[in-house]
Amino acid sequence: MPCDSRKVSASKEAFDCTACGACCRCFPIFAGEADAQREPRIREEARLLEAHMRSEERSYRLFPLPFLDCCPFLRENLLCRIYESRPRVCRRFEVGSDQCLEARRRIGIVDAI
Ligand code: SF4
Ligand code: SF4
Repeated sequence: MPCDSRKVSASKEAFDCTACGACCRCFPIFAGEADAQREPRIREEARLLEAHMRSEERSYRLFPLPFLDCCPFLRENLLCRIYESRPRVCRRFEVGSDQCLEARRRIGIVDAI
């Protein structure tokens, strides 16, 4: 549930992130060191990439991880456990975007758009 529903434009109001969470289980999700400084639970629950693979926005992998079918911070009620301090990549993810629609399609949500 990465997006801020308060920012959803009128044309996107059909998308209810609080009942979706598709983007938290479909695409690779990474966090940077700045994200981990803001939210220490990222260090505890995500996997630190090998040094040669790290970049400003990609130091920790949140998804996919072994034995998890979604980001470790996605609750069963489809809300984000670290919503206020979630990674930048989650803040930037746009509700109603092509990626959003693709994520929803992959988990079986049919949008009439
Ligand atoms: S950190 Fe929160 S918003 Fe980002 S992918 Fe995980 S559950 Fe979704
Ligand atoms: S896939 Fe789209 S509607 Fe679903 S939680 Fe992510 S941004 Fe919101």
